[in-house]
Amino acid sequence: MTREDGDGFVVCLRGHRHWGRFGAAGLLLADPARGVLLQRRAWWTHHGSTWALPGGALNSHETPAQAAAREAEEEAAIPAEALRLASSSLVDHGGWSYTTVLATVAGTFSERVMNAESDELRWVAPEEVENFPLHKDFAQAWPALKDQLGRELVLVVDGANVVGSRPDGWWRDRAGAAVRLRDRLAGLAGIPGDDVGLPDWRWWPRVLLVVEGQARGTEPVGEVEVIAAPRDGDSAIVDTVRALRPEDHVLVVTADRELRDRVTAEGARVLAPSALLRLLDELD
Ligand SMILES: [Zn+2]
Repeated sequence: MTREDGDGFVVCLRGHRHWGRFGAAGLLLADPARGVLLQRRAWWTHHGSTWALPGGALNSHETPAQAAAREAEEEAAIPAEALRLASSSLVDHGGWSYTTVLATVAGTFSERVMNAESDELRWVAPEEVENFPLHKDFAQAWPALKDQLGRELVLVVDGANVVGSRPDGWWRDRAGAAVRLRDRLAGLAGIPGDDVGLPDWRWWPRVLLVVEGQARGTEPVGEVEVIAAPRDGDSAIVDTVRALRPEDHVLVVTADRELRDRVTAEGARVLAPSALLRLLDELD
């Protein structure tokens, strides 16, 4: 039995009364074929009969992503395995915050109303959401959420450059060093959006690790795809960036000045290897 210690109202620093002693979170689930999943709250609840997202109070031991997934399972029978997390957006009132977790459907399930707090679940096309009587907080958040719907953060990692940026003996075993980097990248989750100009957001990136030379045999694992450069790594990185969807946020990790200019010209942003390694160190 998990500890449910988050239930209760709090008053935030702006003087509002909110549900969730440790804040609250909701799941914005998108399916390219069906739209987004909205939930109509039962008439007797706080802001009853309005449409919003499955979600609820965080417990003290939970991250917002964990709470959103748990609430979606409890309220709508959506299993966590069916979710591919993309990003999250934080609204912080001081003393209380709300996190919307954006995910795409990555498995089959039959959503259904599971508890008395909600009356109906419905897939709605994004352009029709604003025509529904929405919960006022969701209505306010929706335009910014809609803007990021279906978009991913794609991290294109210049493997040789990142491996070479920290003197840890990589030159004795370049292939092994690439595998170690790959395994650390596989754990990247909820990274801050500051580097893509979205400071209140976090991202679960799709990672493309570009390897060359002795590291070309590196196998993909989990969310990390591996691109073996046929000749030089820089051209493979530029080609990779060019092939990505225009709506995605692309962050190329390299310290190579010429490559930085080439990918910036393609619309990508650049992250220093030291900044990536700092993020990975924080996760360890
Ligand atoms: Zn408030």
